[in-house]
Amino acid sequence: MDIRHQSNLKLSKTEKKFLRKQNKARNTLLRHEGIETVSYATQSLVIANGGLGNGVSRKQLLPLFQGCGTVDALLMPPNKPYSFVTYETTEEARNAYVALHGKEIVGDLGQKIILYLNFVEKAQWKALGLPGLPPGLLVVEEIISSEEEKMLLESINWEENTDNKNCQKSLKHRRVKHFGYEFHYENNHVDIDKPLPGGLPDICEHMLEKWLKEGYIKHKPDQLTINQYEPGHGIPAHIDTHSAFEDEIVSLSLGSEIVMDFKHPDGVSVQVMLPRRSLLVMTGECRYLWTHGITPRKFDTVQASEHYRSGIITSDIGDLTLSKRGVRTSFTFRKVRRTPCNCNYSLVCDGQSKERPPSFPESDREASRLEQEYVHRVYEEIAGHFSSTRHTPWPRIVEFLKALPSGSVVADIGCGNGKYLGINKELYMIGCDRSENLVAICRERQFQAFVGDALAVPVRSGSCDACISIAVIHHFATAERRVAAIQELVRLLRPGGTALIYVWAMEQEYNNQKSKYLRGNGISQGTREEITSATSASPSLNDVQEGGGKSSGGTRSELPIHTNRTSFHSQDVLVPWHLKGNPGKDKATVPFGSTEAQKPGPICHRYYHVFCGGELEAACQTLGNVSILKSYYDQGNWCVILQRG
Ligand code: ZN
Ligand code: MN
Repeated sequence: MDIRHQSNLKLSKTEKKFLRKQNKARNTLLRHEGIETVSYATQSLVIANGGLGNGVSRKQLLPLFQGCGTVDALLMPPNKPYSFVTYETTEEARNAYVALHGKEIVGDLGQKIILYLNFVEKAQWKALGLPGLPPGLLVVEEIISSEEEKMLLESINWEENTDNKNCQKSLKHRRVKHFGYEFHYENNHVDIDKPLPGGLPDICEHMLEKWLKEGYIKHKPDQLTINQYEPGHGIPAHIDTHSAFEDEIVSLSLGSEIVMDFKHPDGVSVQVMLPRRSLLVMTGECRYLWTHGITPRKFDTVQASEHYRSGIITSDIGDLTLSKRGVRTSFTFRKVRRTPCNCNYSLVCDGQSKERPPSFPESDREASRLEQEYVHRVYEEIAGHFSSTRHTPWPRIVEFLKALPSGSVVADIGCGNGKYLGINKELYMIGCDRSENLVAICRERQFQAFVGDALAVPVRSGSCDACISIAVIHHFATAERRVAAIQELVRLLRPGGTALIYVWAMEQEYNNQKSKYLRGNGISQGTREEITSATSASPSLNDVQEGGGKSSGGTRSELPIHTNRTSFHSQDVLVPWHLKGNPGKDKATVPFGSTEAQKPGPICHRYYHVFCGGELEAACQTLGNVSILKSYYDQGNWCVILQRG
């Protein structure tokens, strides 16, 4: 029985929308998590949106599903927005599907969540924690026959002495030969004005035409590099130089299979099996943003099961074995670039100008300039996308606002998209933000807001009963400026008035409270300031290699770039924001699947000074006319409530 399609005949608008969302969830599961759903009833269901990474607890989910039958297992992978439930019988799973598919529940943070269920053959541990293939990566198995493989291997004349023909080199760890254009390892580039005579070998021309016709590749390459790796040899992680080659890069593996390591600048790494006679196709994000490399070793750890020929090597300890490496020869085809690269990955793009990373400010003027470049300008740029990720108010801030007497005049300094301005309708709230675009968003939402600097708020002294400053003061680049910002809040308060301040904590774990940020919830972006799929730059992404890259240099007192979802190692950091396409679109409360429609965009960096425990209190205490009513830690933030004396 096809449960999904049985009632597809006459659907209301809501039902259609619902089906669309379910489909989206299913596609996301498959594409990003490698979870295959089936269209017939089984004992197991995958529960999209019902996961730990989504703010749904076991305590919440289990009784719900136990209500439909005997639950054999409820598998909740860490940091994932889904879980698996397995029933004793298919009948019970079917009951659960009927009763709970599309059910709205309230998550641990009070957010509304709609559960989407799909049957799966197995609640596979293999799938759990299984990272998706890098977007843009494709492995085509058996693209050539054994005969063709043999012919190709025999066609290479390693002995041929070629001074200006078919340039050949023996690099430290492998033999290399170039056709079409020579690749220069000194600068990781080709000399576009000096094509090698003879072009690509005929045998390849024929093969490429076939791949083009069959749609495996979209552009005809004009450069070929043949590499031969002995067992134990490898190639350092690298990104092929953007400015040297076009988007599509393909590589044919001959002679022996190999495991290639792919790494995202965020730190995610994926091992991919490239079987013998397979074609690796790298495009888009995989080609431009992820590094690839081969670890030098004599054995690879690979999947034992037969059906896992190519693709990701999982960490399923029940299904791993060793594969002894043989001599592998790769034919890497690329198309030489003739126009500047305008990819979306400017952080790793050598073709796009980049400012040098800023250094730690040593004067007030430098600090102010840093804030302008790395706070004000960035918020202006990311306002739309930023706002689309900020819709869940934090409970303890809501609590503060709800406890104020009605009629209170309250200023939100650094109000962003006005998330807190409408929380308590009994207050008279005004918002102030440095970003014109964010203030415009507040106004669209019918809030009172104006553009202003937190160091000089255009509001009369003593005119507020309360103030809030949420995630603002950590953007000031010197201790003096941070104190001045607090002082300015206090200036707005009437005697006896209170101010609530939140700043980022250096300590992302405190008293067993781990911030959501660290828990790596990449889905409900509204709950934590930085939850996004932003990437950070690892400064040495590129290395010497087959394909090229660039080295980045310089170590002044440069501000380090923080790796999102990791602990802080420095108090003064640049935090990456990965700007997505379609800002503000599809910001429904159903987080599942809502990320996939968005195209990756440029990466912006914001300056932060993350506070150590006690630092915020100390800064407040330098002011004479205030007392600290309360200080606490809340999900990766240090917080105080001040009172003006
Ligand atoms: Zn580029
Ligand atoms: Mn390469």
